[in-house]
Amino acid sequence: MNDQVVVIGGGVMGSALAYWLTRLEPTCKVTVVERDPAYTCASSALSAASIRQQFTTPVNIRISQASIAFLRNAADELATDDDKPDILLREHGYLYLAGIDGAAQLRAVHAVQKTCGSDVVLLDRAGLEKQFGWLNTADLTVGSLGLSGEGWFDGYALLMAFARKARKQGARYVNAEVRGFGLDGNRVAAVILSDGSRISCSHAVNAAGPWARRVAALAGVELPVFARRRTVYVIACPTPMKPFPLLIDPTGFWIRPEGAKFIAGFAPHDDVDDQPLQPDYGAFEDWLWPALAHRIPAFESARLERAWAGYFEMNAFDHNAILGPHESLQNFLFMNGFSGHGMQQAPIVGRAIAELILHGRYTTLDLSPLSFARIAGNRPLLEENVIG
Ligand SMILES: Cc1cc2nc3c(=O)[nH]c(=O)nc-3n(C[C@H](O)[C@H](O)[C@H](O)COP(=O)(O)OP(=O)(O)OC[C@H]3O[C@@H](n4cnc5c(N)ncnc54)[C@H](O)[C@@H]3O)c2cc1C
Repeated sequence: MNDQVVVIGGGVMGSALAYWLTRLEPTCKVTVVERDPAYTCASSALSAASIRQQFTTPVNIRISQASIAFLRNAADELATDDDKPDILLREHGYLYLAGIDGAAQLRAVHAVQKTCGSDVVLLDRAGLEKQFGWLNTADLTVGSLGLSGEGWFDGYALLMAFARKARKQGARYVNAEVRGFGLDGNRVAAVILSDGSRISCSHAVNAAGPWARRVAALAGVELPVFARRRTVYVIACPTPMKPFPLLIDPTGFWIRPEGAKFIAGFAPHDDVDDQPLQPDYGAFEDWLWPALAHRIPAFESARLERAWAGYFEMNAFDHNAILGPHESLQNFLFMNGFSGHGMQQAPIVGRAIAELILHGRYTTLDLSPLSFARIAGNRPLLEENVIG
């Protein structure tokens, strides 16, 4: 294959795709256009980089099953002559908690996960107290704990490993901003850069993360993906608490260990688009700290050390990825809208989009339920377990 694939955005999605294209077809010409090679605002550099099996949509569970296998093997898979990347994968599980209100939903979702083969177990109040003595269970009825395949890793290290290996395999990274497209009927013939130069292409791929809607609009495509700010709080707590999985509270916050400290976050109640990437410090005192101290009494003596903010690329249609070609522009492909679970999906979505480009169809895992066509057909595939 001698045609050129142009990938817009070199975050974890664009770099995973560049890696898979050049791995599956070494003669494939790939150009990744990235306007910010330091990744100062990219979600991939600002992510909490955690992976779970506990989704409500079967296709997401299948992606996670394949993804954890890739991540466990990433050091070998992404090794180069001079580098063996360590993505610091820690499989300490997720713990979803429910009070009286959420219990039926948690049990229903658990049944879906079991059917899909997830290694998850339900714990009643006594079980929660026994395993996690640091938890206030007074207003809880049930918890769902992932026994394997869930945890967290170094997302920036994964991004760098994909990009480095993709380059070694022949992908070209260009530091520029995509400002337009040259269209030829129902095809994208070229990608136009900020200096006016054009890169002709056989395929263009939108991997622009939270900015994907703007990139799509340059080709006249409407994409319901919005940049929603999320603050991650780094917290120190003097009380040792082990084991400590990634905890999802019924009030909506999440928290997990990060080295000797913790990181936590939640979905803001006024979730507006395109806010500046400055952390919302006020929300820690006003809302998060009281909620944390209620669930984990040791956090009464916790201290906020610092915080950062990044964008979720939120798919407002159904909170799931939007993958593959747009029906009116067949060679313009999308890998967008991950709504807070893109880091863990990148290894498998990258492979899937590479398969579409190289073979015209998914050959390993069928991701067609996540196709762009569901939006035009108004067939939402709602993911209910969206965190933070
Ligand atoms: C606070 C936070 C916590 C998260 N936690 C998790 C988690 O626990 N687990 C999980 O799986 N996911 C998580 N995510 C989501 C995950 O990080 C993202 O889904 C993933 O990183 C998206 O990768 P991307 O490559 O699509 O986007 P990005 O990493 O944002 O990359 C897009 C790139 O496109 C470039 N770009 C944009 N427009 C143009 C243009 N016109 N021309 C050239 N370049 C352009 C940008 O500069 C950027 O580098 C979290 C995200 C945030 C913000």
